[in-house]
Amino acid sequence: MRGLIILGRQGSGKGTQAERIAERFGVVHISTGDMLRAATAEGTEMGLRAKAIMDAGDLVPDDVMIAIVEERLQKPDVQAGGFLLDGFPRTVGQAEALAAFDGVDLDLAINLDVPVEEVTARMLARGRDDDTPEGIARRLELYEAETAPLLAWFEERGILVVVDGIGTEDHVFDRLTAVIVVGAK
Ligand code: AMP
Repeated sequence: MRGLIILGRQGSGKGTQAERIAERFGVVHISTGDMLRAATAEGTEMGLRAKAIMDAGDLVPDDVMIAIVEERLQKPDVQAGGFLLDGFPRTVGQAEALAAFDGVDLDLAINLDVPVEEVTARMLARGRDDDTPEGIARRLELYEAETAPLLAWFEERGILVVVDGIGTEDHVFDRLTAVIVVGAK
């Protein structure tokens, strides 16, 4: 099954761009942050536990995230159309689990690159529940520690592309579609 991944700091605009890419290329947009927020809103036990972790800006444990994504990837829409993962993997452990899932081909990992100062300003303006100055700082710190090594992991596999995330939404979208058309198998 066709698999795309979008990486980038929180506040890089990857959620918005991911929705547009999914629509353009007919793949299913899977945002693990959205899935966790939906579980929180439904008040499931997993959702409530996740909320405390999210509000602190920490990462939900790998085994929980891997189980959630593995289940989602087995659904018929994903099996038929392929996927665009947004917010997963966030650690090398998650990436290794994803690569080992049955029938999953990782075609392209896109790093939507926006510098720290710019994403901080964008997140403060957006004002989500977990967008407190402390929460933002913690998430960015974790991003550098846990997620940046993923870039090297994808690069070693020859599927990493970097796209400049500065500019208007349409400009960035054009850059993204260009690399997907060229880069994906
Ligand atoms: P996001 O919407 O991608 O910024 O995710 C919001 C929050 O959900 C993160 O700060 C984490 O607490 C949690 N989360 C989302 N995806 C993952 C993941 N793949 N691994 C661990 N935690 C995650």
